[in-house]
Amino acid sequence: MKFVSTRGKEPAVTASEAIMQGLAPDGGLYVPQSFPALTHLAIHEISSYPELAFEVLAPFFEDDPLKDDLAEICMDAFNFPVPLVTLRDQETVLELFHGPTAAFKDFGARFLAACMERMLTKEQRKLTILVATSGDTGGAVAAAFAGRKGIDVKVLYPKGRVSGRQQQQLTCWGGNIQAYEVDGSFDDCQKMVKDAFMDSELSQQWGLSSANSINLGRLLPQSVYYVFASHLYTQAFGKKPIFIIPSGNVGNSCAAFWALTMGAPIEQIVLSVNENKTIPDFLSSGTYQTRASVQTLANAMDVGAPSNMERLFNLYPNTDTLRSMISAYAVNDQTIEATIKEVYEELGYILCPHTATGERVRRDHFAGKPTIVVSTAHPAKFEQVVEPLIKQTVEVPENLAKLLMKPSSFKAIGTDYRQLFN
Ligand SMILES: *Cc1c(COP(=O)(O)O)cnc(C)c1O
Repeated sequence: MKFVSTRGKEPAVTASEAIMQGLAPDGGLYVPQSFPALTHLAIHEISSYPELAFEVLAPFFEDDPLKDDLAEICMDAFNFPVPLVTLRDQETVLELFHGPTAAFKDFGARFLAACMERMLTKEQRKLTILVATSGDTGGAVAAAFAGRKGIDVKVLYPKGRVSGRQQQQLTCWGGNIQAYEVDGSFDDCQKMVKDAFMDSELSQQWGLSSANSINLGRLLPQSVYYVFASHLYTQAFGKKPIFIIPSGNVGNSCAAFWALTMGAPIEQIVLSVNENKTIPDFLSSGTYQTRASVQTLANAMDVGAPSNMERLFNLYPNTDTLRSMISAYAVNDQTIEATIKEVYEELGYILCPHTATGERVRRDHFAGKPTIVVSTAHPAKFEQVVEPLIKQTVEVPENLAKLLMKPSSFKAIGTDYRQLFN
């Protein structure tokens, strides 16, 4: 099994090569050359999530140096529960927020860190990871890499655009983790990372790699929970589920399309977005037009130029096919607030602002249908939005509470990537 760049200018590489490189040298994103079929999966015989992850991912690591480490990597990375919760009738929520930083990005970040640490040990070398975050990525990456030998991490986040608790999770680590507060937007942060990679001299000198959702090592493990949840759902309800996925950079939803391509029992994949409507506008007009991001309550989805769209264009090269495969709906801030309130009052269930976009899309377009809304973060991470709406304090999960008590520090910089290397 090999991986190729979406821009097609590079030779095919193995999974671990793609993971260690992050972005392909031609500026493209790595994608599998072909997808294995899940037909070999005797899913009912699999007893644990790490075991399922191993079964799903093994074909991708067939002739890879990490092949013999994969089972251990899965146990190391996926050491927390993945509950599928029924809200009512056929309406369920896949809670992906039980990892150390209480957001779904723990899945990808932990898998990536486990892979990289083992590769670096094998190769006896060091790396510097650059990660731009609109909120949750950086926290998950910092947590996953903190204390790992041979790896330094530089985390960039947009000033004033992340919540207090998110910022704490970016800045509380010290040691091999350095946080940078950038006077700009998330798109600026992302551009700085890309520019640093394109500076080949600097990139060589520092051994730069990425841990953003552009890294294959983040994407692949995210496919696993779509395989897991769609099988679980089909067993419980006798129907294939429709996934509704709160989306920003489209990494999470791209992983769902990969799971679908492998043959997971998925009826349909629907994206919910906030006021950053690049994708719904593309689907209705047929013209893909990126733009500057706008700030919303669902800040981890504040993306105007979703980088993983490049992978979806690669998966479905024909625009009409792509448009027929994806649906997407936008939800504005006022409606996010109303939905958090409505769902709490009706069902006693507390949504984070991101997940609220998904629940709104279910209620408006798929009510009563077999659905899984993907819950991307714990509401306690966004208490300033959520608590006034439900007039309750949200209990902080234990993992998060530990991080919130640590001392924090960061460097404030502008939007020139060279400031990261002073
Ligand atoms: C990152 C994030 C998203 C968006 O996921 P993408 O893979 O970027 O589409 C949604 N919700 C939360 C809480 C996130 O952290």
